[in-house]
Amino acid sequence: MVFPEGADYDAPHNSIAIVVMSDPLSASAAILRIVERARAAGARYVHLEQDGQNARFRFRHGAVLAPWGGSPRIDYAQLVARLKGAVGLGTRAIEHLEQRAFQVQIGGDVVDVQLLIQPGLNGEQVVIGLPGRPKGANPSLTDLGVDEESLQVWQMALRQRRGLILIGASTRGLAQRLAMAAAREIDAVRRRITALMAVDGPLPPGVQGVPVSPREGWSPADALRAQFAMDVDVVLVGFTPDEGLAAAMVEGALVHDKLMIATMPSRDAVGAIRGMLALGIEPWPLAEALTLVHGAAQVRSLCTVCATPLAEPKQALAPHGLTRSEINKAKLYGPNGCGKCGGTGFRGHRILGETAMISPATADAIVEGGGRRALAATLVVGGAQPLRRHGIQTACRGLTSLGEILAETPPC
Ligand SMILES: [Zn+2]
Repeated sequence: MVFPEGADYDAPHNSIAIVVMSDPLSASAAILRIVERARAAGARYVHLEQDGQNARFRFRHGAVLAPWGGSPRIDYAQLVARLKGAVGLGTRAIEHLEQRAFQVQIGGDVVDVQLLIQPGLNGEQVVIGLPGRPKGANPSLTDLGVDEESLQVWQMALRQRRGLILIGASTRGLAQRLAMAAAREIDAVRRRITALMAVDGPLPPGVQGVPVSPREGWSPADALRAQFAMDVDVVLVGFTPDEGLAAAMVEGALVHDKLMIATMPSRDAVGAIRGMLALGIEPWPLAEALTLVHGAAQVRSLCTVCATPLAEPKQALAPHGLTRSEINKAKLYGPNGCGKCGGTGFRGHRILGETAMISPATADAIVEGGGRRALAATLVVGGAQPLRRHGIQTACRGLTSLGEILAETPPC
């Protein structure tokens, strides 16, 4: 059963109803328990399914449905009727996806909850969503700047049995968060995923950590090669590649049929590919192994309290290849500085992303030497929106400044 990923972003939050907990039967208690346990598990969605007369619950992490483990005994029909009643859907049959928001009280916290119901082949499909999970915890690819279209490209690459997915970002932290979010999109029940890490850190559910402390004669590349001999399908490489590790990554995809997800310090997707070539990887095997490349950049968001409209927006945008109508519609702001933002003019961050499958044209450009311009052109044809273009559009919506984009993204 598939609910649109990120459906919670469009949730009609104006239709909030409060669930009144007066039912002596445990339908209300069950709702509380579901929300409580989902929050503790860091899950964004709980799927309700019918198991005989009883309800069965499963958490969804990314694309993975994890079992609840010891579901409470609760009548499915009664629980669903209670939920529908609480959000004003009554007892009528659902004809298309309905999203309703409500709140429950847990301890002293008021928690926003969503009810998503859509018709299905075997009756209504019911999901409880938790849009208000702690910010920054378990970010999804969408949270990390991957738009709807690019998410589909990602999912296509993550379904492949083998290949090399390369994530380029200027900070190691951002690249690693993207790699973890990618792992969360993989079905960890059907595929074995391991992660080579320098330190033990929190990993997505189902991912087995392999802590590696490089020592004399035992490098991350050796640790990676040791994975190839095991019954592992997907390997996350949490190290910045050196020459040996980069070679082992390519070997994993080409020779051992593994899906490799690796990071490369770079300012964009093209830079990530060129980084592999700079490490001495032969162009032909690299072109053959690579399946997807993603570039990411983090930019500061303008402080909404003190941002000031730019005096000459058209002039500022002129050199950046926008259409006349894009320029006319642009709402360009610049930083100013106030008490709220510590005088910097910026508060918070946004992440920009560009995603491309490696097309035959990109593979050719790699084999022909991997020139920046040639590679960039093929990635755009393959559907990637260059980081700078994505950034300029973000600036045109008044969310960040043009100066910030020009500083943080390479020219395209
Ligand atoms: Zn401010």
